[in-house]
Amino acid sequence: MPQKIICSNCKEILYEGELLKSPQDIIKKYEGKCPKCKKELNFTTDGVIVKPTD
Ligand SMILES: [Zn+2]
Repeated sequence: MPQKIICSNCKEILYEGELLKSPQDIIKKYEGKCPKCKKELNFTTDGVIVKPTD
């Protein structure tokens, strides 16, 4: 199932695709910060939202 990982603050799409990625990998890719709003991404405290694409 396609997957989206979204910044919980600004709703920037950080990852969208068919491959299931772990939020930790995405957070690491962005060096722990949202590229748009610079919020610190922390999956364990709802920093990002993972959901199926519409
Ligand atoms: Zn953001």
